[in-house]
Amino acid sequence: MKAYALLGYPLAHSLSPKLHQSVFQAWDLPHVYFPWEITLSQLPQAVEMFRRNLAGFNVTAPYKTEIISYLDELHLSAEVYSAVNTVKNEGGKLVGYNTDGPGFMQGLASVGFQPADKRALILGAGGAARTVALELAHQGAVCTIAARDVTKAYAVQVFVEKKFAQAELEVTNIERIPRRHYDLVVNATPVGMGELQGQSPLQMEYLQHVDLVYDLIYNPVRTKLLADALRSGCRIINGLRMLVHQGIQAQEIWQEQKADSSLEDEILELLAKEIG
Ligand code: NAP
Repeated sequence: MKAYALLGYPLAHSLSPKLHQSVFQAWDLPHVYFPWEITLSQLPQAVEMFRRNLAGFNVTAPYKTEIISYLDELHLSAEVYSAVNTVKNEGGKLVGYNTDGPGFMQGLASVGFQPADKRALILGAGGAARTVALELAHQGAVCTIAARDVTKAYAVQVFVEKKFAQAELEVTNIERIPRRHYDLVVNATPVGMGELQGQSPLQMEYLQHVDLVYDLIYNPVRTKLLADALRSGCRIINGLRMLVHQGIQAQEIWQEQKADSSLEDEILELLAKEIG
């Protein structure tokens, strides 16, 4: 039996333990996966404890960048995003990976959205917004990054432009978003979940004529933003497929085994039922 964990804070809302236990069950593995909430000051000791006892772990907000300095090696996927969400323990050597970007793109692919030459509005400028901006810019979308702290949005812009000199990005305060046509709106803030459930990060008038609204939040299944988007005639998608895809990719890295294509849909259905 091997042990795996999720490192982050807070973790009460996380479906990752259920997701990974479902993969172990599907693959008939006796392994365990548990959430481990820590504060920033506990990070060094937690990583050393994990190095001695775990076969791997996931990392979530707010430690996806901080974790890097405690790892021995970064896979190319983690180097690209300068963030880690999956760590494999290779006999005491901790190797960091990132499976969030493919997870986000899988969500877009599942509804047939092609980002090339589209205009995207990204709400937030944290780790997820950076991954989203990088993926969309790479695919040729023109991105507006809206954040309450504009300096953080500029940091995302610089990060993306360093990777893709030809990327087209602009930055705005989330309270003063330019009124123009956006094909895609992505919520990469926590507004809509937890204590902010029932709130939306975007006024409804921005949603007119938007093709797709993608909320990275998966619990609740339908945030206020998504409900407003449906009322405005937009297509919608939440963050559940992204979560499941990145989780299955983490398992593929840990177990060195490829998942059947049906596993993603099975787990998606199971988790959707779990949330209700
Ligand atoms: P993060 O690094 O903490 O960034 C959060 C961003 O949201 C920051 O720009 C923050 O601004 C902004 N924000 C927070 N509260 C806000 C408010 N009240 N109004 C406006 N902006 C606000 O978190 P993250 O890792 O990027 O995650 C962001 C969201 O994506 C979370 O809801 C997370 O659950 C979701 N997510 C989902 C998946 C998935 O698999 N579905 C994967 C990753 C993330 P400040 O910097 O000013 O605080």
